Amino acid sequence: MERIHRKDYRASEFLVDTIDLVFELDPTETIVRAKMQLHRNPEVPAGTGPLLLHGDGLELRALRLDGAALDGSRFEADSQSLRIHDVPDRFELATEVVIHPAENTKLMGLYTSSGTFCTQCEAEGFRRITYYLDRPDVMARFTTRIEAERARYPVLLSNGNRVAEGELSDGRHWVQWEDPFPKPSYLFALVAGNLVCHEGTFTTASGREVALEIWVEPANADKCAHALASLQAAMRWDEERYGLEYDLDIYMIVAVDDFNMGAMENKGLNVFNSKFVLAKPSTATDDDYEGIEGVVAHEYFHNWTGNRVTCRDWFQLTLKEGLTVFRDQEFSADMTSAAVQRIKDVTRLRTAQFAEDAGPLAHPIRPESYIEMNNFYTATVYEKGAEVVRLYQTLLGREGFRKGLRHYLERHDGCAVTCDDFRQGMADANDVDLDQLERWYFQAGTPVVRTSGAWDASAGSYAMTLSQSQRVFPDEPRPRPLPIPIRVGLVGADGNDIAGTVRTLELSEDEHTFTFENVRERPVPSIARGFSAPIKLEMERSREDLAFLMANDSDPFNRWEAGQRFATDVLLGLVGRVLEGQALEMDPALVQAFRRILSDGSLDGSIKALTLSLPSEELLSQELSQVDPDAVHRAREFVVRELGAALRDDWMSTYAQHRQGTDAVDKAQIDRRRLKNRALRYLVALEEQGTIALAVEQFRTAAGMTDYEAAFSMLVDLDSSEADRAIAEFYDRWRGEPLVLDKWFRMQAMSSSPAAFDRVVALSNHPDFNLANPNRARSLLFAFAAGNPFAFHRADGEAYRFVADRVVELDAINPQVASRIVSSFNQWRRFEPGRAALMKAQLERIAGQSGISKDVLEIVERAVER
Ligand SMILES: [Zn+2]
Repeated sequence: MERIHRKDYRASEFLVDTIDLVFELDPTETIVRAKMQLHRNPEVPAGTGPLLLHGDGLELRALRLDGAALDGSRFEADSQSLRIHDVPDRFELATEVVIHPAENTKLMGLYTSSGTFCTQCEAEGFRRITYYLDRPDVMARFTTRIEAERARYPVLLSNGNRVAEGELSDGRHWVQWEDPFPKPSYLFALVAGNLVCHEGTFTTASGREVALEIWVEPANADKCAHALASLQAAMRWDEERYGLEYDLDIYMIVAVDDFNMGAMENKGLNVFNSKFVLAKPSTATDDDYEGIEGVVAHEYFHNWTGNRVTCRDWFQLTLKEGLTVFRDQEFSADMTSAAVQRIKDVTRLRTAQFAEDAGPLAHPIRPESYIEMNNFYTATVYEKGAEVVRLYQTLLGREGFRKGLRHYLERHDGCAVTCDDFRQGMADANDVDLDQLERWYFQAGTPVVRTSGAWDASAGSYAMTLSQSQRVFPDEPRPRPLPIPIRVGLVGADGNDIAGTVRTLELSEDEHTFTFENVRERPVPSIARGFSAPIKLEMERSREDLAFLMANDSDPFNRWEAGQRFATDVLLGLVGRVLEGQALEMDPALVQAFRRILSDGSLDGSIKALTLSLPSEELLSQELSQVDPDAVHRAREFVVRELGAALRDDWMSTYAQHRQGTDAVDKAQIDRRRLKNRALRYLVALEEQGTIALAVEQFRTAAGMTDYEAAFSMLVDLDSSEADRAIAEFYDRWRGEPLVLDKWFRMQAMSSSPAAFDRVVALSNHPDFNLANPNRARSLLFAFAAGNPFAFHRADGEAYRFVADRVVELDAINPQVASRIVSSFNQWRRFEPGRAALMKAQLERIAGQSGISKDVLEIVERAVER
């Protein structure tokens, strides 16, 4: 397997001015003709080398250079590349290839999904369409002519503006598209099918009218309103926040059922996983609505951060992704609730990215090498990358960040650039030195910040010492200290911040002591407010102080954080007792702290629901040096039941009080539903007939999907007939709605019922299970392997074997999705020896299979080695 290194980057010897594409679409055999104007790159010292074009699975039918057919001695073509010798400095190259979209199960390049043609080209899918310089620093003007049978494919879409169309003989028609903006091939898109359009418009700040079109299958025409409203809100927000306007006359979104990722920002023609477009209250939950709003905005924001200014090479992926995730997080914070959004983002970061940083796939946000680029669309590049972008805003302020972003975009408009160019743009616009920030781009691992404090009563001062340490990797230089902004406040006994103590400390050395004056009482420090840097904070703190911050901290994030730390402390203590075979006892102070949150009139329902939830088994396991999943599960179940029983009346009255409402998706109703369902969850965990009946009733009468799904997930956790009945009823009602049926698979896969594994095995043979559909495969297999640690890590290893078998099966169909699922084995070293050996054995078994893709092999080999 060839490993590609960042340090080996060389500019392309050839550049492409224009490429004119013609597609004769047919599911089994599509003909692609490309006519390119190429020239040698003047930036690269005069070369005489051959032209080398990328390809993948192509059959070459014709090849002409400046109009003349080439004889066989001038070129070598195979399915992976096309090499042409003795080319002039400037020339026209025409190719004709044949591809087979219906057989394309990798879903990279041109493929069919439920009868619709669509494309996915990032990162290296365009080479599966035609021979090309398939790298992001080669930018060309594209025109695309699509020809297809009119009856089956009445709608023919590509990037840019529709400039001409017409009829052909034999019932076929054609449409010609022209994209005025030069772009790299990964932003190319084509869609053809029987689709309907949900239309809207947007008037830009400078008064231009943009047509907005959301294209879906006819049956989904009533599920587009939210995506359209989200798009309009995102366009307005980017103008207001950053002064960035849209640049074409038309913006299209297409929803397809088979898609490897969430969505793709192709210029003017986004292709979306239907999960992130389609919604109405009866079929989509509040979280689905928020997910759609965030993803629609994310892809729209890419038009500037990704498309107008793109990446020089794929090592720079975080340049567009970290930045655009940060932008969508800020947008969602403005659209929903800043505190709730921050808690959700940080929870996701900790669950996925901290685990990645602690495991075999640890890599910096700008990786140094890869075998398969698709394996580096990771939580580190995206989520940690966004946190690193947030550091600029924390250091420069919101206005300074805006200035820096605009400067960077103006300076590099139309170019393919690097993370260093971004940092330089930020520095130049604000006239500051940001060199030390580069370390965040090449050092992997989650930094640990230790803090200790001392209050000097006689001097009236408080000294806070912060020190940092980094994970050391065997073959890499010793990590150096990172610049880490730490937002702090010192809280006084009355629960208010002590005047003058709310500051942002900049830790840029291994250790530093910061002194606060005029501190006349012993303070309780609140540190890393708003999660001001992607670090792990270590600090000795009493449960009393944590309960105090949980009740009083003026920073809503740290208020929630104090609760999580309190609960974590209690839970880890109980895990220890389980392992030692001791009786379990609940800390009444946690019950008391929960009761206080429930009765706090200053908190909205969403924040309350988050504060009243316990850290997941995945997060708790991260705190242990050797994980025993049974002990973690038992301790957590114990605390859930104790909280349920001790606060039974409070949960009951909370549930009763918030039971009635509408299915509207607005803040008041969302807050109400979240709090009510949190209460119900604790009640159902008691497994009393009376409380189970409440969940059954909610399941039967729920107006919207949020309440329906919540009740269903509680019922499938039970080991009783109610579970079986709910499973049957759900299926009968929703078997015709793929996205809702995905939930049915997912909830069963994530169930804490003892029957979960047997159900998952049975579901893998269900007629509606389809390994080739990424959403369905993830709903069952990824949800089970990554989201149900108790069942996945059963001690006999049967679940490991089951998932490994499915990975091998799936790898033959779609390696990209298979490699995501196999990553669930990455943490094997952290488990107790019995499970670690069983997991490792499955990794070795997968590696030993013949014909395994490089996608899966790269993950598996790293997991075994590191
Ligand atoms: Zn993106």
